[in-house]
Amino acid sequence: MRTQRIGLRHFLYKINAAESDRCSCQEGSQTSRHVLLQCSLYTDLRGAMLDRIDRIRGLRGKTADYDSVMSHPQALRWVAEFVHNTGLLGQFREAELITQAPESTTIGAEGKTLVKRILD
Ligand SMILES: [Zn+2]
Repeated sequence: MRTQRIGLRHFLYKINAAESDRCSCQEGSQTSRHVLLQCSLYTDLRGAMLDRIDRIRGLRGKTADYDSVMSHPQALRWVAEFVHNTGLLGQFREAELITQAPESTTIGAEGKTLVKRILD
């Protein structure tokens, strides 16, 4: 997500694969940051994710700090789950399985795919 080069509408728009980069919520461009932190369509999913992340030592009270969350290996496990649950990356299910996720993350193969997409 550092470069936001994942399969969200913002990216698809940039490569002319989508007509607009606007999110379905109409509140902004569908960047990874928007989906993770702002989008009103995923309020419930986000709440569950942030609740989990807030229990991680070192991130308590810092869940709004995008960079801290995105650079924390344990947090990524919940970020991956969140992204998976939004269904936004469904079209990339066949994406590369190679992952740069740290060994300490306890995520399944599908989650690793998502983390790879997110971090790529
Ligand atoms: Zn949105």
